[in-house]
Amino acid sequence: MSLLGLGEFHEFGAADQRFLYLVPSAAVFALDDPASALIDTLGVQRLNREDLLAAVSPRFPGNGLDETLAELELVRAVRPVATPAPETPTIIPLTPFPLTTAVLNVTNQCNLSCAYCYEYSEDKIVDTTTGAQPKFMSEETARQSIDLLFREAGDNAVVHVSFFGGETLLNFPVLSRVVPYAREEAAARGKRVEFNLTTNATLLSSEMIDFLVEHDIAVTVSIDGPREMQDRFRVFRDGAGSYDALLPRVRELLRRHHSRPIGARVTLTSQVNDISGIFHHLTEEIGFQEVGFAPVTTSPGRDHALDREGFDKMVAQFKALADEFLDAAAADRHHGFSNVSETLAEIHKGVSKAYPCGAGLGLMGVSTGGDVALCHRFAGSEEHRLGSVDTGIDREAQTAFLERHHLAHKIDCHTCWARPLCSGGCYHEAHTRYGTSTHANLHYCDWIREWTDICLRIYGELAERNGPFLNRFDS
Ligand code: SF4
Ligand code: SF4
Repeated sequence: MSLLGLGEFHEFGAADQRFLYLVPSAAVFALDDPASALIDTLGVQRLNREDLLAAVSPRFPGNGLDETLAELELVRAVRPVATPAPETPTIIPLTPFPLTTAVLNVTNQCNLSCAYCYEYSEDKIVDTTTGAQPKFMSEETARQSIDLLFREAGDNAVVHVSFFGGETLLNFPVLSRVVPYAREEAAARGKRVEFNLTTNATLLSSEMIDFLVEHDIAVTVSIDGPREMQDRFRVFRDGAGSYDALLPRVRELLRRHHSRPIGARVTLTSQVNDISGIFHHLTEEIGFQEVGFAPVTTSPGRDHALDREGFDKMVAQFKALADEFLDAAAADRHHGFSNVSETLAEIHKGVSKAYPCGAGLGLMGVSTGGDVALCHRFAGSEEHRLGSVDTGIDREAQTAFLERHHLAHKIDCHTCWARPLCSGGCYHEAHTRYGTSTHANLHYCDWIREWTDICLRIYGELAERNGPFLNRFDS
């Protein structure tokens, strides 16, 4: 009789309960006492079925141990050791893959001069000063981008248009004309289009807010926190801080725009890293509903780069804020730490990724000149070009990209329990760190695993303490 052993999972505890995060299926499985005993016994020694049941049954007489074992086998928490663990299948999505999101880089110019900006710093991928790409997207290119999105959307009933920069509002005239155009095109095709816009908010006027409200456009404001943190890096060309310029504008936006959540996005650096202070300032003192944090994308060794100690400090603070999220969610109160809600949504849906994000798949970035690339961060890069709004998506280039970037080629990730959610991490971060978008982001594995474990624990706690809270992630 074949020996049984343990499958691939990550164990975690929450609410006095043991859970397994099952790597092959990305499912969360709660262990009752008999299941725990079976797992613990196999953790010490591989056994055949009869011996395993005989070893555990004295503690659980007449308790349906057979069925419990069958269930553990079904979810692959237990598996015959003679059967090799399945390899990561290299299934390349069939193209044409329907496009869900077009990110329009409406300008590559900015009125700020943030020292850490990936677009202008020494780490930039696209040199916007050569003139190869125009400074501003024309209305024609913006319309062509919308046409491309609808042409390539397949059966998607809803498509998304994101406006990005540079500073997006520097090209408000084009933006304000392409939004109604996209709405008309969507209506003509029986589809819905949703918009979001990322801005530094320093140019936001009352008229622009009227427009955002009227057209139901979600807004993300790039802001790093209270004045002393915001003004550390987010400065105008003359070095003056931008906090005072954006604050009244953001307050007006928050006062008048209620149909969509207005989020803040914070870039964490070695100098801007008081996560709790930033979060509470942005939510309680300014009024943002959602705040998301991301470590700066940069080469190691730069002044603002997070080092090992910086990452450790960041995770400890993330954990403290995630605990606040848990307390609020357990009591059915809103908490705007969006890093948690985004990860909980993925856990709840059982997301298991062959690619870290939708870039080059259902999401593409369009440069100011109309080149189509993996995402907004690569827009205008010849190396990462996947077509143009004129000629459409280059399916050969897209297939080659999907083949080269599949998780199956990231050997280091194959034994990592966090791979269903991480899948090697952001291509842009990888390109900045390792010079190629195909590389796994091995510099932050410990952090990713720790953060995933924190979110799994919160998921388990909520499942026990306020299960209905998780229903919001069904859709
Ligand atoms: S990059 Fe690191 S954390 Fe992410 S899947 Fe690969 S090994 Fe795991
Ligand atoms: S490659 Fe990175 S920056 Fe681009 S969409 Fe993916 S996660 Fe975002």
